Amino acid sequence: MTYQHQWQDGSPMAWSPGKVVCVGRNYADHARELNNPVPAEPLLFIKPASALVPLAEPIELPRERGDCHIETEMSLLIGSPLSRAGEDEALEAIAGVGIGFDLTLRELQSKLKQKGHPWELAKAFDGSCPLSVFVRPEGLDWGSVQLQLIRNGQLQQNGNSAAMITPVASLLSYISQHFSLQPGDVVLTGTPAGVGPLSVGDQLQVKLDDRLEVTTRAR
Ligand code: ZN
Repeated sequence: MTYQHQWQDGSPMAWSPGKVVCVGRNYADHARELNNPVPAEPLLFIKPASALVPLAEPIELPRERGDCHIETEMSLLIGSPLSRAGEDEALEAIAGVGIGFDLTLRELQSKLKQKGHPWELAKAFDGSCPLSVFVRPEGLDWGSVQLQLIRNGQLQQNGNSAAMITPVASLLSYISQHFSLQPGDVVLTGTPAGVGPLSVGDQLQVKLDDRLEVTTRAR
């Protein structure tokens, strides 16, 4: 299925999907659970538009490529161009907020890391970035957004943006020093602790504050 960005209320979306800029290890509790050092500066990587799929559709697990971990992340939809932006300009460019999965072939990523190779094969494959619909961020306190993943009825990830090592405004500003962001691009803001492998048949429920709740499953 071809992915298109969508507003939760069904109103038309002006922007075509672009790249997805992601940040690794933005919550210290997640860096610790994988025995990774907490980086001094944001650790960025990019997923191409071809990685995007609708989160509410069943998630196709890649077969025979080792464990596929789920990382639940707050997603930001960019609505105006950002290049070498300051923090205020960066916040004004956020048109929507939602939930994304940064699906990761963890065993393959470990091998790539050992060799000092880039992570794309483990992070940027087709279907590696399920995205929810977006809601408008009016009134949202970026420093206090609660994100939850409930898997098969159990709370598996529960994080608050207050725990981000690089908060939203400085993260967007930092990204824009290196990569120009265009309307339709998306930023994934990192995962809290509780990542783990997905299994066929898993029932998944994700929540962003009381603004957004989506259910899906893995197959
Ligand atoms: Zn991630």
